[in-house]
Amino acid sequence: MIHFDKITKKYNGCVALDEISFTVKPKEFVSLVGHSGAGKTTLLKMILVEERPSSGSILFGSVNIHALKRNKLHKYRRKIGAIFQDFRLLPNKTAFENIAFAMEMAGRSDSEIAADVPYVLEMVDLGDKMWNFPRELSGGEKQRVAIARAIVNQPDVVIADEPTGSLDPINTYEIVQILKKINDLGTTVILTTHNKGVIDSLGKRVITMEKGRIIRDDPTGRYVL
Ligand code: ADP
Repeated sequence: MIHFDKITKKYNGCVALDEISFTVKPKEFVSLVGHSGAGKTTLLKMILVEERPSSGSILFGSVNIHALKRNKLHKYRRKIGAIFQDFRLLPNKTAFENIAFAMEMAGRSDSEIAADVPYVLEMVDLGDKMWNFPRELSGGEKQRVAIARAIVNQPDVVIADEPTGSLDPINTYEIVQILKKINDLGTTVILTTHNKGVIDSLGKRVITMEKGRIIRDDPTGRYVL
């Protein structure tokens, strides 16, 4: 589904990714681990087409995503949902409006928005906080809104960059359970984390990075650093 073919990324001579090659299959749950600076975020930015590789290519199906023209790139981006450590919610919009906005951007109709926003908020167990602003939500609740926003347009892949990095253990557990549920429903998940407990509890594929390279790729890995 996503195939990295010898991806190298250099920032002013600093090698962030060094000839990375690997494949993520449909419906896989893949965790990326590695010390700070190993290249995890840069790798996710390549999939999100926020950065361009210095060399190599990434195929999504049979499509070279970094060769897409603007219109097709827009369509490709809708297939990817993203979640970040800092939530990235719009502060002056309610939970409902944050998600509705993502649907509007994807060209969805008002009736779809009215039906789907409550549905995804229920899915993350936030049906009762629909009209709250981000400042009125806890960290765990904010991240659940961000997850609802990431999945509302039914992406093929969810990218989660340190989604539990600023959460306590109970909220971390809940977020991981939601990501597992999304994966069980058929969405590919690519997660980066520093949390050993998260990795060990998942029991899914773990790719370990070091200095821009993949040094381990275990089908049912544990956290080894
Ligand atoms: P990780 O997510 O594993 O902590 P990153 O992908 O953020 O690692 O960073 C990998 C390397 O690339 C690091 O050496 C980092 O300093 C460098 N790097 C990342 N982004 C930039 C940037 N925008 N400009 C210059 N160097 C960068």
